[in-house]
Amino acid sequence: MENKYQILENYFGYTTFRTGQEEIIDTLLGKRDALGIMPTGAGKSLCFQIPALLLPGVTLVISPLISLMNDQVIALNQSGVAAAALHSGLSPADQQDVLAGAARGKYRLLYVAPERLFAPYFQKFVSRAPLSMVSVDEAHCVSQWGQDFRPSYLQIRQFLDSLPRRPVLGAFTATATPRVREDIIALLGLKDPLIVTTGFDRPNLYFEVQAPSDKYAALRSFLSSRREKSGIIYCLTRKQVEEVCARLCGDRYSAVRYHAGLDDEERSRNQEAFQRDEEKIMVATTAFGMGIDKSNVAFVVHYGMPRNMESYYQEAGRAGRDGSAADCLLFYSGRDVVTNQFFIEKSRDGEGRDGEEVQAFRQMERGKLNRMIRYCHTRRCLRADILGYFGEKAPPYCGNCFSCLHEFSLQDVTIEAQKILSCVARMKQRFGMKVLINTLRGVPDKTVAAFGLASLSTWGIMGDWPEKKLRELIHCLAAEDLLALSEDGYSRVILTPLSREVLFSGKKVVMKRPAKAFVPREEARRTAKTPSDPVLFEKLRALRKSIADEQVVPAFVVFTDATLRAMCDQLPSTEEEMLAVSGVGKAKMEKYGRAFLKVLRGG
Ligand code: ADP
Ligand code: ZN
Repeated sequence: MENKYQILENYFGYTTFRTGQEEIIDTLLGKRDALGIMPTGAGKSLCFQIPALLLPGVTLVISPLISLMNDQVIALNQSGVAAAALHSGLSPADQQDVLAGAARGKYRLLYVAPERLFAPYFQKFVSRAPLSMVSVDEAHCVSQWGQDFRPSYLQIRQFLDSLPRRPVLGAFTATATPRVREDIIALLGLKDPLIVTTGFDRPNLYFEVQAPSDKYAALRSFLSSRREKSGIIYCLTRKQVEEVCARLCGDRYSAVRYHAGLDDEERSRNQEAFQRDEEKIMVATTAFGMGIDKSNVAFVVHYGMPRNMESYYQEAGRAGRDGSAADCLLFYSGRDVVTNQFFIEKSRDGEGRDGEEVQAFRQMERGKLNRMIRYCHTRRCLRADILGYFGEKAPPYCGNCFSCLHEFSLQDVTIEAQKILSCVARMKQRFGMKVLINTLRGVPDKTVAAFGLASLSTWGIMGDWPEKKLRELIHCLAAEDLLALSEDGYSRVILTPLSREVLFSGKKVVMKRPAKAFVPREEARRTAKTPSDPVLFEKLRALRKSIADEQVVPAFVVFTDATLRAMCDQLPSTEEEMLAVSGVGKAKMEKYGRAFLKVLRGG
């Protein structure tokens, strides 16, 4: 019988476990429940796939999306592991086949949608075949406080309780907020689980925020040096998706669109074309999300500010899953704030919430939005800001984000800050950003007239400031906690304890402004992850593509980019050397090893 190290090597082609993996595997093998909270790309799948291969009987994997199940099943089959998926996308006859196979012990892993759990034919199956383990993927779907609540996840616990013998339970998610974590434990009924949280840092991701006056022009300039790369552009609305995608196609970029307004057929066609590298750019709303398991996404651009840090990091995290250097760029504009506020005030989330809960939910969302706005204006290390949000300590300098790689000049804005804060005080903290700005600039509007704001001593004291610059400065002050936005639904500009220090104790306020001379990022950033021989790398990629096309699978399930790069570095010339390359297991060696060796030998 193989042990976990042999399985890691023989099936998956890796020699060492990543942080957290071994601990979870050992725990599950020891029949204790486990909860793995690990960021996208950390390697959660192996945490239950390896125990599934070591435990007797079949492991049930509960997964929310068909595409996600299919990807994992294809990848497992490629690695020589018998696995199948049971979902509504199969014909009844195929479903019967899968279950009959499972009953005969044909599969080590059976993927199933939560909606199937209580189907009579499935119940009959589980009453006969003892399950050794149940693994719940995307476990945050059980929580109403997460991003992707699915009512059907609430049945999982009932299902477990109904089994003649309770199998060991593993649950996995990339969502880290304490509230969601508590929900997962309670609602799935995890018993005294080992909780493993691995670092949320993704060192290979570069972070940047821009506030371009012309977003599309900024996007084009960003893309111009990335013609051959694959990436996702997230838009806030369907309309924006249509617009951006059409313009990109007009500019001869290989781009497809995805949003909830398209029919299923086009959505899955576009998704597949993107997964298979036939189309390079996916322009999408956040409906394109969970279940995207593409390892060579080189950039994620947010064409508008997302509504909270959780969504942002989850979406941005779809870049660079194979460990390659990747870019996460966010375009911010004041209008994004308004759009998001609209989404929040409109959100009712019918799913069993009463009036009071809706209010609490919106209030929470407003707070999260403010935190997101703050991220867009901070001049601190962006990575440190993100990790800090997730409760993780991080050094103040990461060396791979806009703040860390650009030179800034310091500007003393104490006087301006005092003007703004005293205006807020005189307006009795009762008004929002727009009215504050109008008052400071001396621009009359309805509210100004109704409340007689023109008679304040601060009326028009910043009349020489353009609106946009002033708004930016106010947000920067908020990012430093020198003022705040209320979370009662009115987004009033309010004072903080630090405001008082500026107003009354002579606290100095210094702003960092990006200096004119930018350090060229491509030089400044680490370049470790480019292939040692780009020509050879392209040849290997071409071979991979032809194999993937022939087998109608996504390219990365044949080998990931990281594995191809390792081949370029190590130049294996024998089967043994090939097996030593990270990501080459026995099954893949047998299937593809020779073809790749031939290219590597220059044949
Ligand atoms: P997650 O589900 O956490 O987002 P995956 O399970 O899809 O992440 O793994 C992401 C990538 O990392 C996959 O390409 C996987 O093969 C790779 N990977 C997982 N574990 C290891 C390991 N121990 N060593 C090297 N690569 C690994
Ligand atoms: Zn940084």
